[in-house]
Amino acid sequence: MKQIYLDHAATAPLHPAVLDSMLPAMREDFGNPSSIHGFGRKTRHLVDEARHVAAKAIGAKETEIIFTSGGTEADNLAILGVARANSSRGKHIITTQVEHHAVLHTCEQLEKEGFEVTYLPVDEKGQVGLEDLKEALTDQTILVTIMFGNNEVGTVQPIKEIGEMLKEHPAYFHTDAVQAFGLLPINVEEQGIDFLSMSSHKINGPKGVGFLYARSGANFSTLTYGGEQERKRRAGTENVAGIVGLKTAIELSIEEAAEKVSLYISFKETMIQVWQEEEVRFEINSSAEETLPHVLNVYFPGTNVESLLVNLDLAGIAVSSGSACTAGSIDPSHVLVAMFGKDSDKIASSIRFSFGLGNTMEDITQAAKETAKVVKRLTRNK
Ligand code: PMP
Repeated sequence: MKQIYLDHAATAPLHPAVLDSMLPAMREDFGNPSSIHGFGRKTRHLVDEARHVAAKAIGAKETEIIFTSGGTEADNLAILGVARANSSRGKHIITTQVEHHAVLHTCEQLEKEGFEVTYLPVDEKGQVGLEDLKEALTDQTILVTIMFGNNEVGTVQPIKEIGEMLKEHPAYFHTDAVQAFGLLPINVEEQGIDFLSMSSHKINGPKGVGFLYARSGANFSTLTYGGEQERKRRAGTENVAGIVGLKTAIELSIEEAAEKVSLYISFKETMIQVWQEEEVRFEINSSAEETLPHVLNVYFPGTNVESLLVNLDLAGIAVSSGSACTAGSIDPSHVLVAMFGKDSDKIASSIRFSFGLGNTMEDITQAAKETAKVVKRLTRNK
């Protein structure tokens, strides 16, 4: 049986060209980038090249890129770093109810440290209201952290408008762009972003690496103390091979973005068409326009998540119930609860398909047909 992987928002396979680019850095280029001899200079050069590519991808300067161990660390560094360095100016932070746990749990930690956090609500499409944000801002607000695109339902937030609003306010604007990076256009200047997190393994790069963009002059403290790497903002010897792989993954993602976006949109249309033809009852859990092209979160009335996931897995189709970090636990999705309320049937009957490298239209059609079969079987007597 062919296995079809439709869980690219959880993690994505390594692109073969990424692996090829990493091998020399793992086999031969072992020097420490901080060493002054030739071995060190060689790897320093590799890291510098990657920094150049990362900065260019988002319209930033090289000195504004800090390599991290991935999205979670980038989120932690931005949020804890800004909060702790700016607490004398104010102790208020604004975020949303639909952030990834890397942001939500970090904000909860700050509440324990005496900060006040406002968790903005979202509408049924998963979007925050600009008016709600405006009302929540006070002269004590030091940070607004709102994700670019949601990992569970795909909703894209009005980043440019938020950036615009915050130009008039001293609070920093951080966005978790882990899911949006490589598919949606990002320009930190045009979008008024002060801090931005990304993660390599979501764009077919290696796991355990990513970066935080931090605007020049932005005041934040480090989480790690030790060597002077990353201009003293992230101590520890650089993950050179990972950073080289990240560089290749970014280059590929830029080259292929337009093609991927139109392919994934056609995947969504195909799935929807198959279900309509098969007369399956379903609803899409996000807005049709303001959404990430690779994420499709669907409500199948009368089913339940666990049976859907198990039956699809038996049919060779790997999907998820939303955030991989909450899958396997019986906790309802905080994102769906924020969108539809805790009593909505959608919470226990929705699953996420997410597309990426290697998926073909044939796979998508087969996956949609198998899903239709499973849904019909599960709802037969309902
Ligand atoms: N933020 C979002 C929106 C994500 O989807 C993820 C990965 N699930 C993360 C942060 C965490 O990134 P990483 O796995 O690189 O720590």
